[in-house]
Amino acid sequence: MKLKAVTGCLFRVVMKIAVIGAGIVGITSAYALAQDGHEVSVFERNAAIAEEASFANAGLLAPSLLHPLSHTRWPGAGWLRYLQAEAALALRKNVSFNELRWLLGWQKNLSSDAFVARFKQTQQLAQYGVDCLHQLSLDAGIAPEQAQGQLALFSSAAGHAAVQAKLDLLKEIGVSLLTLDRSQAQRIEPALDSDYPVHAAVHFPHDEIANCRQFAHLLKDRALECGVKFHFAATLVALHAGAPVQLEFADQPERQSFDRVVLCTGTGGSQLVGLGSAKLPLTELQQYAVSVPIREALNAPRSAIFDYDRATTIGRLGARVRVSGGTELGRSTQKVQHQSTKQLFNTLQTSFPGAASYQNGAQIWKARIGFTPDGLPLVGPSASNGVWLNLGHGHNGWSMCCGTARLLTDMLAARSLALDPASLQPARFQI
Ligand SMILES: Cc1cc2nc3c(=O)[nH]c(=O)nc-3n(C[C@H](O)[C@H](O)[C@H](O)COP(=O)(O)OP(=O)(O)OC[C@H]3O[C@@H](n4cnc5c(N)ncnc54)[C@H](O)[C@@H]3O)c2cc1C
Repeated sequence: MKLKAVTGCLFRVVMKIAVIGAGIVGITSAYALAQDGHEVSVFERNAAIAEEASFANAGLLAPSLLHPLSHTRWPGAGWLRYLQAEAALALRKNVSFNELRWLLGWQKNLSSDAFVARFKQTQQLAQYGVDCLHQLSLDAGIAPEQAQGQLALFSSAAGHAAVQAKLDLLKEIGVSLLTLDRSQAQRIEPALDSDYPVHAAVHFPHDEIANCRQFAHLLKDRALECGVKFHFAATLVALHAGAPVQLEFADQPERQSFDRVVLCTGTGGSQLVGLGSAKLPLTELQQYAVSVPIREALNAPRSAIFDYDRATTIGRLGARVRVSGGTELGRSTQKVQHQSTKQLFNTLQTSFPGAASYQNGAQIWKARIGFTPDGLPLVGPSASNGVWLNLGHGHNGWSMCCGTARLLTDMLAARSLALDPASLQPARFQI
């Protein structure tokens, strides 16, 4: 730890900080910390950045929290639909007792007041994240592929009625939304097939879709310019808390010392057990994304569409259209369930026929996402001296990452924070 003169007799504490994990959360954290004057090194086990959950996510920057997994269960809502293969979450045969316990906790009926308080915290953090992302993009001069607005489609009156309480709450919080009939929805997405079942639609004009991986690469270049050092094929295998914190990496005989280490390891889980901090309260879910080159732009979506009944997002990212959904709970496996990807292709073909060129290299991606029991990430100091966390962002990681990077940096500098950190502190789970 060093003191660096800033102006006159003002000094700033400069720390040597290791960021573990170069997904979108690690990259945004490293950049924010370097901008704050720290000496930052990023360690990533893969050969490049954003190779896991941040590689091909749906791209939604959506404080509207439409996806059923973007928050815990709405009070009174039935949870059996979550077990249906076509709904938000499919249970695989190898699901473990701990995973089922997480699901029961996630589905637990909170009192209305407790639920609303948590929903507002989640929404506020997503909104703060998107605001920070806009500011950062301006300051750093980076512009990933992006499109404006999200259109939610409901095939039945029952589906639409089921989200009415959420829509009312979002409106009360200040989220802009417009309820539309079929023909109005068609004007927003002219290429939507006229046979696609739409009973009602809701448009969120301030939501966005943007390319997370591309943003990560652009920001990495800026981070390099600020002096951040990147180390690839560097797997953290042991961590010794203290002052300094000592890190051991696979195939490296020497330990490395840092003033602070920030774990941005996404799913955390098994590889973190025994790394000095208590076991992290994270459960892994897996989700699919298929990306297909656009064949005819006029037949493709203009921006993001969320099919509520299929819990599936269809969105335009530059010259490609991406469909994501098919979330699975069950021990991690890279095995692709063809039923899930078939359903994603089918959704694209029936909603925007003629949009995509399937022969020209469709990409199928399956990634793990880390969820905490309450759906909010772990941001702040852990119980282990010098070890900080920024992980477990669940289904909102892209929306929240710039916000949690900012909060983490402000916490480390003991500055006042834009949001109350109590609901994010790892200490809420005693870790
Ligand atoms: C299909 C899909 C769709 C999604 N859609 C959206 C969306 O529309 N909007 C939204 O906001 N969010 C969405 N998400 C969630 C979002 O993508 C994630 O929350 C986010 O990418 C998490 O970023 P991360 O950096 O924490 O994790 P990751 O991107 O997984 O990065 C963690 C990194 O840590 C590295 N690592 C782990 N352990 C070690 C170790 N021991 N040593 C060294 N390195 C290590 C890993 O290799 C990895 O690179 C989606 C996710 C998926 C999978």
